[in-house]
Formats: sequence, C-alpha cells, structure tokens
Amino acid sequence: MVKIDWSSLGFSYMPTKSHIRYTWKDGAWDAGILVNEPTITMSIAAGCLHYGQECFEGLKVFRQKDGQVVAFRPQQNAERMQRTAVKTVMPPVPTEMFLDALKRVVLDNIDYVPPYGTGCSLYVRPLLIGTGPQIGVAPAAEYTFLMMVMPMGDYYKGGIKPVRAIIFDEYDRAAPQGMGDVKVGGNYAASLFAHEKAHHLGYPVELYLDAKTHTNVEEFATSNFLGFKQDGTFVTVKSNSVLPSVTNLSLQQLAKDLGHKVEVRTVPYEELRDFAEIGACGTAVVVTPVCEIHRGDDVIEIGSKTECGPLLRKLHDAVQDIQFGRAPDPHGWCYPIA
Ligand SMILES: *Cc1c(COP(=O)(O)O)cnc(C)c1O
Repeated sequence: MVKIDWSSLGFSYMPTKSHIRYTWKDGAWDAGILVNEPTITMSIAAGCLHYGQECFEGLKVFRQKDGQVVAFRPQQNAERMQRTAVKTVMPPVPTEMFLDALKRVVLDNIDYVPPYGTGCSLYVRPLLIGTGPQIGVAPAAEYTFLMMVMPMGDYYKGGIKPVRAIIFDEYDRAAPQGMGDVKVGGNYAASLFAHEKAHHLGYPVELYLDAKTHTNVEEFATSNFLGFKQDGTFVTVKSNSVLPSVTNLSLQQLAKDLGHKVEVRTVPYEELRDFAEIGACGTAVVVTPVCEIHRGDDVIEIGSKTECGPLLRKLHDAVQDIQFGRAPDPHGWCYPIA
C-alpha cells in the first residue's frame, strides 16, 4: 500500500506506479503496455518537440461512497481528443482504445485512487504526441499515446473562495478560426506569459475576450465562462474559439434539471455587469466563483467576495454528489472501472 497524506494533497505532479503507453506506426496503434518508469525516450527530431504536434486531455476518477471506482464521462474526453487529433493531423485514438487504456492504467494504480470521504480523486492525463523524427514541416510518421495518473486533493477543503480575474487587452489566447476549440499544449504556451503577469499582479485567473473585436467574452485561460443572471438564467458562451468543456456541458444539464433556463450564446463584455454570479469551470476545480473582473481602470464586481454564490454552489455540489455516488446518476455519467 502506498502512504499518502490525503489531507495535504494539492494538484501537482506525483509519480505513481505506472503509465500506459501506445505507439502508432505503419498506420496502426499497437496493443499498449504499462510502463513503470515515468520517463520517455524519443528522437531529438520528434515532431512534438519542433512543430508542436501535441494534445492532451484531463479527467477524473472517483472512489464512490459504496466503494465503486468510476471515471466521469470519459467518452466525452475520448471524442474531444479525436477532434483535436484531426485538427493537429495526428491519428485519432478510438474511444474503445481510450477506455481500455483508462481501465488498465487505473487498475494498475488502484492504490492511488483516494479513499471515499477525503474529497480527493485520481486525475487522469491522456497525452498524444508526434514522436517520429520530422524536420521538414509535415505530420510525423510515428505517434505516442499515453495516459498518466496522479492523485489530487480537494480544491475546496477550505470552502469555495471567490477569486479576482483580469482581462488584458494586449494579449489574446486563440484566433477566431484558430485552435481555441481544441485541447493543444500550444494554447497553454500562448497564454503562459499573460498568466504569469496576472499572477504577479495578484489575479489567479485571466479572462479572454474574442481576439477579433475584444467586445465579447470568450473564456478563462484554462476554464470556461459561465454565470447566472439576476433572474436565475444560466448563461455560457458560444464561440468557435472556446474549448468545449465537459464540466460546462454537465453543469448546463444540471442547471436544466434544477429548472433553470440555459442560454449558450454571445456574451458582450458590457453584459458582465448584469450577472448575479460568475464562475470559471473545468475538471480540476469544477467551478471557481469570480467576484471581480478588472480591465484597465474598469472594475466589475459580482456577488460576494468571501463566499461562493448559492446557485454555483448548488451546481458544484450536485455534480460532486454524482461523482462520489451520493446521488443518483440519471444521465449515466459515471463509467465503472472497478
Ligand atoms: C481543458 C480546458 C477547459 C475545461 O474543460 P473540462 O473538460 O471541463 O475539463 C476549459 N478551457 C480550456 C482552454 C481548456 O483547455
């Protein structure tokens, strides 16, 4: 048995027993193997290193109240990775292979799936990279797909704290017809400079406006924008350069289930003033409430500065109750692993 202090666990890299690794060569994926070393050897000319043929995913595995181990909507991550692979000219990983990889790597690392009641989960990071040597600009001839896992802590053990966000008019994340709708490392590289700057200025998150006109809201650097209007309408952004978040889709459904009107549409910057609650959503945290948005001298204040708003709180708890098996799973989101 591994010894881990679940109460002090955060979200940082930790080597576990193994990762699973597949190679694509001569037009086909191999059967995959579990690898115990957390390292990889590749050509110094690998396509991922030079021309950024890289994409990734992120999902979570939970140990539920009754002891069952489940993944949350992994089919959605498999399909999104397929869309990303097509757009980056890499061989898509079939859903069946993705789910097989998930089962094998989680079972081999079952001791790292945190006990129920700790609020912790197992974070799963699938990665697809061009590993064949490629110096002329073209897709690589060989690819590696791997899935690594690591336990992560309960983001909210101290309660859900609202954060301040900043909009930089001098930086964009994704072009209108670019790669914003797929999960590539390049999008993160493109936002890292602004992210570091925001951190130095005391803002945990940056909010991006559309790159072309800077009039409409897009998303936070690593999470989707959503919120509730004063009348209880749930609103989130529709845009070609926003990454379709599985968490966002799930929260939309739960908002509908709770009787809220749900709107997926253009959200002008000026409309931010009319929101009762605003949140940033993604797998790692579910939803982070945002209480202030700064853009130059303009400051928009939304809701409480010390506590999560009641509607976001309700959605957060509803999704966690399904994930941890405390509530029924009417949409079949939990995928059994063990
Ligand atoms: C991964 C990601 C999200 C969140 O997606 P989830 O599927 O909910 O984890 C949001 N925005 C960007 C840019 C992302 O890369």
